[in-house]
Amino acid sequence: MNRRTKIVATIGPASDNPDVLEQLLRAGVDVVRLNLSHGPIDEHIQRLKAVRAAAFAVGRPIAVLADLPGPKVRAGRFPDGGVLLSVGQILAFKPGTTDSDAESCSVDYPWLLSDVEPGDRIVVGDGGITLRVTSIGGDRLSARVETGGFVQGRPGIHLPSERLRLNAPTEEDLELAAVIAAEGVEFLGVSFVREAADLERVRQATIPYRTRLVAKIETRLAVENMEAIVAVSDAVMVARGDLGIECPLEDVPHLQKKIIRHCVEVGVPVITATQMLESMIVSPAPTRAEVSDVANAVFDGTDALMLSAETAIGHDPVLVVTTMAQIAERAEAEADYTSWGNRLGRVQRKQWNDGSDRITMAITHACAQAAADAGAEAILCCTRSGRTVDAMARFRPMAKLIGLSPDPVTVRSMSLTWGVTPIQVDTYTSTDELVWYAVESAVARHLVTVGSVVAVLAGAPDRASAAATDVLRLVRVE
Ligand code: PEP
Repeated sequence: MNRRTKIVATIGPASDNPDVLEQLLRAGVDVVRLNLSHGPIDEHIQRLKAVRAAAFAVGRPIAVLADLPGPKVRAGRFPDGGVLLSVGQILAFKPGTTDSDAESCSVDYPWLLSDVEPGDRIVVGDGGITLRVTSIGGDRLSARVETGGFVQGRPGIHLPSERLRLNAPTEEDLELAAVIAAEGVEFLGVSFVREAADLERVRQATIPYRTRLVAKIETRLAVENMEAIVAVSDAVMVARGDLGIECPLEDVPHLQKKIIRHCVEVGVPVITATQMLESMIVSPAPTRAEVSDVANAVFDGTDALMLSAETAIGHDPVLVVTTMAQIAERAEAEADYTSWGNRLGRVQRKQWNDGSDRITMAITHACAQAAADAGAEAILCCTRSGRTVDAMARFRPMAKLIGLSPDPVTVRSMSLTWGVTPIQVDTYTSTDELVWYAVESAVARHLVTVGSVVAVLAGAPDRASAAATDVLRLVRVE
């Protein structure tokens, strides 16, 4: 498999049996997502165990991303069979949990009448139904339906998030984070982040585990604070579903490009998510627009492409992954990674502050240049935390990118990063030994050929405090 863009697949009832899981991994899934918004935590823990067993069976490191629900505001239950909301009609919204009907909708947010203002947009469900607030008075607010449709069950209600008093992470998020981090997931998705400090609370809840945090950019405030959020995140998700509710839909493609560009520049893996192959939930073939969307995310430079309902409840999850893998691999053949990498070093020199990360950034820049000049077949990144491999991947090099770590959590986490083949290695006591063993490991796995040149990046293993990769060697493989 030559594909370099990674695939994240959400598992659910359609894909959590051991057989399908194994087929999904063989079809090309690199990271499995557990959506903690649906189903009890025990069910997700069982799924996590099933993923570990399937990864063992296929012999490939697979990361698991557990996605926290975040604050959710919901409507009181609509009558069985649903209710039609027609364009132009007025619907009353009241704080509470009583049942809803075609005239009145209760909302389980106690501050509804003080936090929402006339002119605000209210979105019901996944974004299909929108209303505009016309007035507030007494025990209710009134809103006119702008885009109508059917509502049923207890749909989510989206209010302007910048004024909501529900903070992300919620207490429930923190409890779930502590439980699932202890089970050993590599990544935790943090929903409805608004500022960098929101991630810190999840980090505290997951100590002493080394769970990496994925900031989901899906609120207006997260867009405004994007650079500060990315600076404290281990990975980022362009969560286009909620982003398209919070921001005008026509802004979403531009925000996607902006977020991806920034993440690649600073070496933080980025996932493009939601509705990528949506029609394949029921259909055996994607729409032409979906194929273009997946290819365009590759051209934007995304590290990973995500599948949600397509693989969780879709009719043929394995076919969806195969289709996505084919589209991505084809798009990569056209993507201009070389000019991207060439531009990046110049852009960045202006940006770096002091600190060990600057050394990692500088040496990976030098490595990108040296590997290209030497026609290196592969770049071997020896890394404890995975930071070197993320920093190296930002150049999107033509050479194979191989991440080697003694830490099994780091090895699995590297499955998310663009182009990286992760390998588990032993710990070594000197740089010479480390470099030699890295090359040996790559040869043994047939990732590099005798006679080729490889570039090796390493830190000094004998210095326990070494915070940065500071050695670059060009080695001819013998
Ligand atoms: C999204 O909104 O795009 C998203 C991925 O979030 P979730 O599916 O968890 O609501």
